[in-house]
Amino acid sequence: MQGVDLFCDPVRKPCRRSRLTLDSAFGRCEQSQEIRSQERRGMCCDRTPINSILDFQSTPNHRLLLGVIMTLIVGALSGCATNTNTASPVVLAATLATNPQPILNVAGYSVNGQSIPFTQIGQGRDTVLILASIHGDEAAGTPLVERLVDELTLQPSHLRGRKVIVVPRVNPDGMVANTRRNARGIDLNRNFPAGNFQANASYGSDPLSEPESRAVLDLINRYQPSRIISLHQPLACIDYDGPGEDLAHTMAAHGPLPVRKLGTRPGSLGAYAGVTMGIPTITLELPRAASGLSPDSLWSKYGPMLLAAIEFAGDSPPIAHILEITEKDVGSFSG
Ligand SMILES: [Zn+2]
Repeated sequence: MQGVDLFCDPVRKPCRRSRLTLDSAFGRCEQSQEIRSQERRGMCCDRTPINSILDFQSTPNHRLLLGVIMTLIVGALSGCATNTNTASPVVLAATLATNPQPILNVAGYSVNGQSIPFTQIGQGRDTVLILASIHGDEAAGTPLVERLVDELTLQPSHLRGRKVIVVPRVNPDGMVANTRRNARGIDLNRNFPAGNFQANASYGSDPLSEPESRAVLDLINRYQPSRIISLHQPLACIDYDGPGEDLAHTMAAHGPLPVRKLGTRPGSLGAYAGVTMGIPTITLELPRAASGLSPDSLWSKYGPMLLAAIEFAGDSPPIAHILEITEKDVGSFSG
């Protein structure tokens, strides 16, 4: 169990390790009877590498939210000598207590050992998987989807009966280096086990040769999403693979980007999830200029498209049908 820790939804299911995290921040609650009682009742809920907590705290928006949640917890725990006047109006406490709280977890690790965190928010059978920055130099999607998590936390009406999985940094090594590919020079969006996979030095010797693409596939297998949105740049359009046409047009009706078929790339997420697995899969290409926008500006421009995708009420997709597909546009830059 070395290197693995317990981390729970801190509002609903505090546990021993999350208590230690709180203790380190606030220096209180060491002897809380309530926590010991919860430990005995086995209320811990998940197993997550401890550094995911650090990642969570390092994200500005999440750090703010976590700070509010943690302060509320400290105020709520009986026997804690805490000053509740500093943090928590009653209305905000009630809102956070009833709203679904984001749960942070780790999908895997990059070639260079960086964690690939993801956030789950909401519950329900209808699951939406949202990915950003699978290409490290197309990073505008990352602050946009982080802003989405904040929005879903504060406005849970978008979530009724739905679960949303958000992965803000699929290719963290590429983001650090500002490169499209991962640290081994592989294009992760050509590394999936689609029928049109092509083995080469840029796409990988085999499908799923890279830890980052395996992490994405693990999430698909674990959560079985009914639709997938993957954010890219810079083509300023909404592309789709598999049975995603209705979803693409619904998104286009809620934002400034048109629907445009770019062609199914070899070994791409769209080729595998969309065509091979039959999951409506959207490649949301933001414009290049999106990189210069603030999170709030990104949200006001493109957030409604993401909410429309989450609230989309299309029919369930057909289950895993295998099609042979042909690469139409191998030399194209993006997607
Ligand atoms: Zn891309």
